Amino acid sequence: MKKLLIATRNENKVREMRAVLGDSVELVPLPDNAPEVVEDGKTFYENALKKARQYSQYSNLPTIAEDSGLEVEALGGAPGIYSARFAGASAGSKENNRLLLEKLAGISAENRRARFVCCIVYKDGDVEKSFEGEVWGTIALEEAGETGFGYDPLFIPEGFNRTFAQLPIEVKNSMSHRFNAIKKLCKYIG
Ligand code: IMP
Repeated sequence: MKKLLIATRNENKVREMRAVLGDSVELVPLPDNAPEVVEDGKTFYENALKKARQYSQYSNLPTIAEDSGLEVEALGGAPGIYSARFAGASAGSKENNRLLLEKLAGISAENRRARFVCCIVYKDGDVEKSFEGEVWGTIALEEAGETGFGYDPLFIPEGFNRTFAQLPIEVKNSMSHRFNAIKKLCKYIG
């Protein structure tokens, strides 16, 4: 079985990646002493690359890192790379979701288009490859649902009338930005 170091401490992301990868790949977690990486890149790619480069030093395994977020058309692509800290450095999903709804107040359903983006960087020695996935949808008028994480209670994927947080997790994991990026990674690593 192929082993990859998974360069994130976000348990939600790890769970979704494990579900998509199945039994073909073992995701090895970061050691406890690996320090936080400052995400100061200007793109998802730059942040993912920084995490892959920094964390790959902690093992001899090929490493995968990912950076992801939500881009809302009516907000010019915000919150984008700032998705995790949209409402401030110490903000959680509740605050971020509330701020997003505030910023979209008065904007009709047709103008609430958004996409989730995920960039995965795979690093094996000097080889560095990136894989991007996206999923389009709209931002709901209010939060709904309990599954998933982050902006899931506000994101209605195209072709559905419920949010990612209302849909079974298997549905999200078969169409999400993360799924689409992982599919490309799997094709590459075989
Ligand atoms: P990162 O750790 O900097 O990549 O933060 C990504 C942030 O984007 C998360 O904290 C969420 O706010 C948001 N995000 C990324 N992927 C998802 C998803 O699948 N569902 C909901 N929110 C997501």
